[in-house]
Amino acid sequence: MTLRGHKGPTSKTCTHRKYQLTCEDYDALVAHHHGRCGVCGIAADTAPMGLFIDHESVVGDWAVRGLLCNRCNSSLHHMSSPEAAAYLASPWYLTALPAKGLRLKAESEPPDGAVVHLPAQNLTWERTGRHWHCTNNARRRNPLSWRELNRRYGPFNIRVLST
Ligand SMILES: [Zn+2]
Ligand SMILES: [Zn+2]
Repeated sequence: MTLRGHKGPTSKTCTHRKYQLTCEDYDALVAHHHGRCGVCGIAADTAPMGLFIDHESVVGDWAVRGLLCNRCNSSLHHMSSPEAAAYLASPWYLTALPAKGLRLKAESEPPDGAVVHLPAQNLTWERTGRHWHCTNNARRRNPLSWRELNRRYGPFNIRVLST
């Protein structure tokens, strides 16, 4: 099966990690779709480029809608089929993440000087004015807004340490 999610021969880490999915989450996603494209139903090993992880970027990098073949992935928003409408109406993350007890809504922003920890990435961020700065990883140089922090890592990944 060509699934483009778990670690491939040339990549060091599983690509699904970019979407905050563990290997178990990714397997559950594949099982949910029976190893097929979420719209046209082509099987992973038949689809010319395999199946891709599709997400709702406006909501977050973690908001995984499902698996799509390359053709459906590139034309999803121009499709008018009932299959495409059904797919868009029931994103995987909306049921799968709450089923694991994960919170999808961002908490209101903690006050200036607050510190949050993201256990999955082992990152600590501190609020200074309107910006959040990573304090324990020199590679995360760019400050983020609260909204962007939630969009990128997921509300369920953010623990408030001190306010
Ligand atoms: Zn994996
Ligand atoms: Zn398809």
